[in-house]
Amino acid sequence: MTEQSVGEAVLQRDGRSFGLVVGGAGGIVTPDDLERIARVAREHEVPLVKITTGQRIALLGLEECDLPAVASALGLDGYRLPGPCVKYIAACPGTMACRWGMQDTLALATALEAGFGGRTLPGKMKIGVSGCTRNCGCCFSRDLGFMGTGRGWMVFFGGNGGRHPRTADLVGANLTPDQAVDLAARLVDHYAASARVGERTARFVERVGIGAIRDEVLRFAPYLPLDDL
Ligand code: SF4
Repeated sequence: MTEQSVGEAVLQRDGRSFGLVVGGAGGIVTPDDLERIARVAREHEVPLVKITTGQRIALLGLEECDLPAVASALGLDGYRLPGPCVKYIAACPGTMACRWGMQDTLALATALEAGFGGRTLPGKMKIGVSGCTRNCGCCFSRDLGFMGTGRGWMVFFGGNGGRHPRTADLVGANLTPDQAVDLAARLVDHYAASARVGERTARFVERVGIGAIRDEVLRFAPYLPLDDL
């Protein structure tokens, strides 16, 4: 949980209290992280601690005036209000723990976090990483998805699972971890430069067409065979 040094302060539905969301890529936490969170939650009488759908941890029901002290006690450099950015990188256990795992999901999630975790973007971005084709990381419904196979990583772009679901497009296959991270960085750069304010990747791909993504991004990635594009 140590990758992200800044928490996210989310206004709760009562319009008054806040949740402070912490956590890095892949839902990895150490015993020290858990002890620190438990201690802070007790000391500040946090009403509810919850694991989020994005594999982060939320301390819910905080008064706004308590946010600086709670963030400091958690060892954070501070907190920010929610904005359009890389929201989370959720990963299944992959080869670290799952019998079906074909690729190291936690290493890839950590590399993605280092590459562009928390980066400000036109719209929020959710990333899923699955260690095999059973797809516990929900790659098809994430803005960026990564699926491990025996031949490397498959990469998907433009998925969404919200009110207007969209199945992500396959944009790369049989990639090494470095190639998968590089392709993700190219897609994120293009999305950051080309999408409209507030436009999620699913709507962006629908508007410009996956053909334009191929022409402007994929064909410049040297590890993608041109015949497949
Ligand atoms: S996607 Fe595959 S490797 Fe990951 S938890 Fe599911 S079965 Fe295991």
